[in-house]
Amino acid sequence: MVKHSSRIYLKQSALKSNFNFLRRKVGDDTRISSVVKANAYGHGIETFVPMAEKCGISHFSVASAFEAEEVLNACSPKSKIMIMGILYEEDIPWAIEHEIEFYVFNYDKLEKACKAAKSIGKPAHLHIEVETGANRTGMNAKEFSKTLTYLKKHKKHLVFEGLCTHFGGAESLSNQFKIDAQHKRYKEFLKECKAKKLLPKYRHIACSAAALAMKDTVYDMVRIGVAQYGFWPSPDIYYLHLQEVDKKSDGNALKRIFNWKTDIMDIRHVNAGEFIGYGTAFQATQDMRIAVMPLGYSNWLSPSLVKSRSGTHRWQESTNSGPDQYEPLHG
Ligand SMILES: *Cc1c(COP(=O)(O)O)cnc(C)c1O
Repeated sequence: MVKHSSRIYLKQSALKSNFNFLRRKVGDDTRISSVVKANAYGHGIETFVPMAEKCGISHFSVASAFEAEEVLNACSPKSKIMIMGILYEEDIPWAIEHEIEFYVFNYDKLEKACKAAKSIGKPAHLHIEVETGANRTGMNAKEFSKTLTYLKKHKKHLVFEGLCTHFGGAESLSNQFKIDAQHKRYKEFLKECKAKKLLPKYRHIACSAAALAMKDTVYDMVRIGVAQYGFWPSPDIYYLHLQEVDKKSDGNALKRIFNWKTDIMDIRHVNAGEFIGYGTAFQATQDMRIAVMPLGYSNWLSPSLVKSRSGTHRWQESTNSGPDQYEPLHG
């Protein structure tokens, strides 16, 4: 039985090219953590992770233990995995056992991690997240100070793997004042580490937008999500890049790795003046021969995506990797 009338393809050469581009942007001394939460932004963890490893990636970031396990099943034993989001208390021992790194954003979790590490007999690899202005997750200065003391005291069980924070909206230039303030506060936390003589292995704050456009936010590691899949985080970041390279367009800088191909269900003739499909969105202005695809909005082929071809998404379109990027949307 034929199961799937349309299929998703991921392009290894485009991914390689994206990582090469990102590598040039962040420099050789900065580790790239590939953010593969939400099933690798819909691309599929199982397929994507080995592809990224072929490009030299050996660090993956996810949002939960469940996702970490999916990466663990797909990655090479040498790769590291980091949980940036929710980690239930009952999953802490599993994470430590499998040497999965995880964020700690409150003191309570710190003590629980230590207790678990002690009883397992293996250290917990922690990324301490600090609050700098996004008010999502992260410790305040007081909690952080206590945390440093605690880390020092329990060095045997707790590894200070990273010091991190997350920007609230680095992709938009109108947020620049907020991002700058966040970065400034982050540096205060770093200062405290220096004063207490306890430094993290990795300092990391940059997501795709920051890594691409704000060089001073690039420390020992960057957490790259959307850009690796070939998308610019926003028009702002794309135009900043164009300014930097002094070009009018740079369609080959980031390439979509995602390709969606479908079989054709039927080929038919439509007379001039008739409407095609739902409503009146498309009227044939001439006699036409059309192909019908076995796909609709239930498959995420959104009508608004079809319209965006000529609309506000033009900046993104100019970064297409090939002429067939939006091809199914012509249907
Ligand atoms: C999702 C996420 C990222 C990646 O963001 P992109 O904009 O897709 O690069 C980085 N850091 C954290 C904490 C995230 O949750």
